Amino acid sequence: MLAACRGFVFDLDGCVWQGEVLSPGAGEVLTALHRAGRRIAFLTNNSRATGPAIRAKLHRLGLAFAEHALTPLEIIGSVVAERFGRSRVLVIGAPELTAAVRAGGHDIVDVAAFRTATVVVVGNDFELTYERLAAAARAAAAGAPLVTPNVDPRLPIEGGDFLPGSGAIVAAVATAAGVRPVVVGKPESPLFRMALRRLGLEPAEAAMVGDSLESDVAGGRAVGMRTVLYAPGAPPAPGAADLVVRSFVELARAAGVG
Ligand SMILES: [Mg+2]
Repeated sequence: MLAACRGFVFDLDGCVWQGEVLSPGAGEVLTALHRAGRRIAFLTNNSRATGPAIRAKLHRLGLAFAEHALTPLEIIGSVVAERFGRSRVLVIGAPELTAAVRAGGHDIVDVAAFRTATVVVVGNDFELTYERLAAAARAAAAGAPLVTPNVDPRLPIEGGDFLPGSGAIVAAVATAAGVRPVVVGKPESPLFRMALRRLGLEPAEAAMVGDSLESDVAGGRAVGMRTVLYAPGAPPAPGAADLVVRSFVELARAAGVG
């Protein structure tokens, strides 16, 4: 199944890396795939990092060949513009998220001026305060559409630990406002399609590899890619993905490079 795949799109958090360290065997197997001429892209729902920043981290971790790294920040400004026109946006999230929204041609609204917002964008926010949460919820309740890079509940870090993800904050805002968010990243299709375009491949020629059934496998399947679930812990139900691997070594074997 994978031996015929010309390209692979890898999820990052909880798959290629855990926080600041590569998963066991990931460096060796990715390098072997690259040397075998397979095309590789990286796709993350990270709501705080740009593509170039992700690429720099991959290089720092020893994956010098990494070229295509895609995050929701690359498209969130244009998604808001396409759906809602040029907007006055209240952003709850990292400075990088604010910069990405501004780069899409939108005006940024201060937290204190939340009543003038026409769109609310919420991502992971390490400086979250009750005031910011209240402003976002009130603006969304008043009718400003709620847009988010992702609804991932957790951000996996080293040692099997996690931080609350963008989805946890979005859930608080959406619950208080009584609205549903527009999701820009996985499992929605724009990032998957952009990755395939960068690789120059049709969906059936590429496999999506990730640790999340809801985001990586469901999203990859929806655009017609092969899907591989990376499940180093307890294996999930059979048939959850086209292939379930417990290690990168297993993935290499299945792909014909191990
Ligand atoms: Mg992941």
